[in-house]
Amino acid sequence: MRNSKFVQHYYLGSGALNFLKPLLETKRTANESFVVFVIDHFFNGKEVINQLPITRDDLVLFADTTDEPRAEYIDDLSDKVKSYKPYLPVVVIGIGGGSTLDIAKAISILLTNPGLAQDYQGWDLVKHKPVYKIGIPTIAGTGAEFTRTAVMTSKVKKLGMNSDYSVFDQVFLDPDLLKTVPKEQFIYTAMDCFVHNVESLRGSQNDAMTIAFAEKSLEMMKDIFLGEMDLEKLLVASGMGGIAVANSNVGICHPLSYGLSLVLNLHHGYSICIAFNQLEEYYPEVAEFRRILEKYQIVLPKIINESVSNKDIDRMAEATLKNERPLENAFGKEWRTIFTKEKVIDLIRKM
Ligand code: NAD
Ligand code: ZN
Repeated sequence: MRNSKFVQHYYLGSGALNFLKPLLETKRTANESFVVFVIDHFFNGKEVINQLPITRDDLVLFADTTDEPRAEYIDDLSDKVKSYKPYLPVVVIGIGGGSTLDIAKAISILLTNPGLAQDYQGWDLVKHKPVYKIGIPTIAGTGAEFTRTAVMTSKVKKLGMNSDYSVFDQVFLDPDLLKTVPKEQFIYTAMDCFVHNVESLRGSQNDAMTIAFAEKSLEMMKDIFLGEMDLEKLLVASGMGGIAVANSNVGICHPLSYGLSLVLNLHHGYSICIAFNQLEEYYPEVAEFRRILEKYQIVLPKIINESVSNKDIDRMAEATLKNERPLENAFGKEWRTIFTKEKVIDLIRKM
């Protein structure tokens, strides 16, 4: 049983971003106060920056999301904030996709907790209340704006800072921010939500609350992608999928995708799509997923080709099989006898 925590405040709808300025004014009460804006590097020089209530004392950090967040990179950014003024910021804001949101979450924690980002990879290791934080997604699917984890890769592992202290204090869901996402990236990240729902619903670690969120989110995703595109609805579906999966578990696809990401350095949404496309024997929803790809004219390439060695495939399989809890969620306690290394290698070779 879990003591689940939700984001307590959110603005939703076109123009939601306009409410950021008055909200920040309620936080900038002391003479010595500044705000840290962690913004996806795509927006550097873009019009959106002019809409942000950035004042002279604030610190703007453009997050490089070419690769997904690394713990050392988060440490570097946190050090920049610590050395900027002799006092702490009053707010840390993340504006971007799952990568930037997770970086902002982690920075807010590291400002009040000693040590390095990697020290907090795991469950409930954060001891001190972090700096107040705001999440503003600019792409939808991961649900990172609503979850209690900040995912990162360190030298030793890809694992999140899972803590109630990772939950944003405030979220702004403004569909206007999503309009510039390139089509392929848009679909890959959105499909992360589709898969979160399927894995949550088809596992055994769900409950009435997560089932309610996942069922509705999945229904909304199908409406949006096979019916009419509605960005506001997509933001809601993404958040609900995030809540569902964070309070239940992923299943077969995410462990396979972690292996792909680790060895081939693929982005999360993309590796999710590559892996899910081969899982029709476990998930009948793969048929709908393929219809969506077809509708948006996305052709997934064959990524396991001659350039990938047997040793690489073995590493991917090993990394997949380390995800014991998700695999137990999918197959039950005896998962090792069903989802054998040979089976995993077979699936990977098809990708
Ligand atoms: P991302 O943040 O990695 O961004 C992907 C790309 O989209 C980047 O190139 C970025 O510049 C671009 N982009 C973002 N918004 C844009 C916009 N409005 N216009 C144009 N380009 C834009 O993508 P993501 O898929 O949202 O996040 C993936 C990360 O999220 C992974 O690191 C994954 O592990 C993590 N994740 C976290 C959670 C969580 O609960 N914390 C859940 C799932 C995944
Ligand atoms: Zn995911």
